[in-house]
Amino acid sequence: MILPSFEYKKAQTIDEALELYKKYNGEAFYLAGGTDLIPLLKHRLFNPKAVIDLKGIEELKTIKRKRGNLLVGPNVTLYELKENPEVKENLPCLFESLNATSCETLQMRGTIGGNIMQNTRCLQYNKSLEWRTARGFCYKMGGKTCNVVLNARSCFSNYCGDNAPALMTVDSKVRLAGPQGERTLKLEKLFSGDGKDPFNIKPGEFITEITIPLKETKGAYEKLAVRGSIDYPLVGVAVTVMDEVAKVGVTGIGPSPRLYEIEKINKKEIDKIAGKAYEDAKPVVNAVLTPAYRKKMVGVLIRRVFARIEKGGSR
Ligand SMILES: Cc1cc2nc3c(=O)[nH]c(=O)nc-3n(C[C@H](O)[C@H](O)[C@H](O)COP(=O)(O)OP(=O)(O)OC[C@H]3O[C@@H](n4cnc5c(N)ncnc54)[C@H](O)[C@@H]3O)c2cc1C
Ligand code: SF4
Repeated sequence: MILPSFEYKKAQTIDEALELYKKYNGEAFYLAGGTDLIPLLKHRLFNPKAVIDLKGIEELKTIKRKRGNLLVGPNVTLYELKENPEVKENLPCLFESLNATSCETLQMRGTIGGNIMQNTRCLQYNKSLEWRTARGFCYKMGGKTCNVVLNARSCFSNYCGDNAPALMTVDSKVRLAGPQGERTLKLEKLFSGDGKDPFNIKPGEFITEITIPLKETKGAYEKLAVRGSIDYPLVGVAVTVMDEVAKVGVTGIGPSPRLYEIEKINKKEIDKIAGKAYEDAKPVVNAVLTPAYRKKMVGVLIRRVFARIEKGGSR
């Protein structure tokens, strides 16, 4: 499939990227590894005037340790982050979610910033322009209906990032730079819950740093997918145990990842959270497995991850 025409600009600094965004009056997309964005452009889901490549900005490519935190640039590849000794040593849940992301070829190209900011997915949306024109445009394409749920008022496309929930379970924050300045958010606040516009991000803002507190943790990640590799989560469950408290992140089912907390880890509390996450999950017929099966697997995976952590955690 051929790309539409757009101007390609490579920024060397954060300020230059912001200037370029202003120059194109917001009709521009930021580019990192391109593994999510380029297929969407090929499908004509977006038609920007310009694509602003962030990969030339050196400060977005580093991993540093500072005051008990790991400061990760958004352009660090998934593979580089997975191979980082601090991640291997202290963050088993994140290590497993990175390892479960697609395949090593994609991990070497895809970045952690692009992974967090990947668009939501739906069987009716990730299609060619011809297919979508024949079917009729839905909310996410600027139409006035949902092609999956009759009389729906919003979009139910699924957020399928493997790593945001793992990062949420270790209390990660993101720093954003934008035309109006900088701000820092807890990662979970970045998600809007609306499949049409899944991120609470202002025009022109982009992630400049991810802060991960470094503590000794136990954890694991389990993923339901059709294929063993190169496949998105149809449900993903990330669990980290830190200071005797467990945080549970659920992804792949609905427009945003969800976060839960267990203060006293025992079978009763794990069952309670598994039940709550099951109730919260409202899958619709827009992914390759049935909604009933995906919903059931939320609780199954939560119990499975805790069982693995009890036996020692990471593979
Ligand atoms: C075959 C295939 C299999 C895949 N399997 C998986 C999988 O198993 N699990 C999974 O999680 N993902 C999967 N993906 C999705 C995607 O490839 C990865 O999430 C990847 O990490 C995206 O990173 P990227 O650098 O390529 O992002 P890009 O494609 O460059 O960007 C993705 C989005 O993020 C925005 N963006 C990029 N950098 C920033 C920034 N610093 N601040 C704000 N916005 C930014 C871009 O504008 C774009 O909208 C798969 C993709 C393909 C093609
Ligand atoms: S869930 Fe509905 S509105 Fe959202 S992408 Fe799918 S068809 Fe479109």
